[in-house]
Amino acid sequence: MRVGIMGGTFDPIHHGHLVAASEVADRFELDEVVFVPTGQPWQKSDVAVSPAEDRYLMTVIATASNPRFTVSRVDIDRGGPTYTVDTLRDLRRAYGTEADLFFITGADALDKILSWKDAGDLFELAHFIGVTRPGFDLNAEHLPASTVSLVQVPAMAISSTDCRRRVEAGMPVWYLVPDGVVQYIAKRGLYRKVGNN
Ligand code: ATP
Ligand code: MG
Repeated sequence: MRVGIMGGTFDPIHHGHLVAASEVADRFELDEVVFVPTGQPWQKSDVAVSPAEDRYLMTVIATASNPRFTVSRVDIDRGGPTYTVDTLRDLRRAYGTEADLFFITGADALDKILSWKDAGDLFELAHFIGVTRPGFDLNAEHLPASTVSLVQVPAMAISSTDCRRRVEAGMPVWYLVPDGVVQYIAKRGLYRKVGNN
C-alpha cells in the first residue's frame, strides 16, 4: 500500500491542493491520498482559523468525488497545535508497518521542514515530496536527498489566504475552490467580516 499524506489548514481547501495531490498520486502510483486538516488552537499570521469541523467538512466535500482521496481526523481529534511528526506517527499506526507513506508538501512548507518538531524522525516515518508552488522556490538542498523528491505540478496561483480575502471583499471564489466548497462557505457565512452578516 502506497499512501500519500496531504496535511494542511484547508481554510478553505482549493484547487492548488487538489491538483498537487492528484499529480503526486499519479507520479508515485499512490493507492490513496489522505487529506489531514490541522488541529484547532492554531493561529496563522494573527488570523483566527475557522472551526475544525468546517475545515474538515470542506475537505470532505472537495475530495468526495475522487475514489483515491480520503480525509483523516487524526490531527483534529488529537487537539492542540498540529506537529507533522504526530500526524505521521498516528497514520503509521493506522496503516501498519507495511505501508509506504509519502508526505506531500508545497515549496513554502518544505522550506521550513527542518524547523519542525522532531525533524530528524520525520524522514524515517515517511518519504517527503516537495511540489512546486507559484511564488516559491522549490529546493531541498538543506534536506537529505534520499528522503525528499521534488515534483513539478501544474502551476496554480491559488492560496487559502487569497480565497478568504476574496470572500471578505465580496469577490468570487468560483473555480478557485470546488463548487461544493463555494456553496458551503456561503451557507456557513465563513470569511465574512464580523457584523457583515
Ligand atoms: P494559507 O494561505 O492559509 O496558508 P495555503 O493556500 O497555503 O493556505 P495550506 O492549507 O496552508 O494552504 O497548505 C497545505 C499544503 O498545500 C502546504 O504544503 C502548501 O504548501 C500546499 N499548497 C497550498 N497551495 C498550493 C498551491 N497552489 N500549489 C501547490 N501546493 C500548495
Ligand atoms: Mg499555507
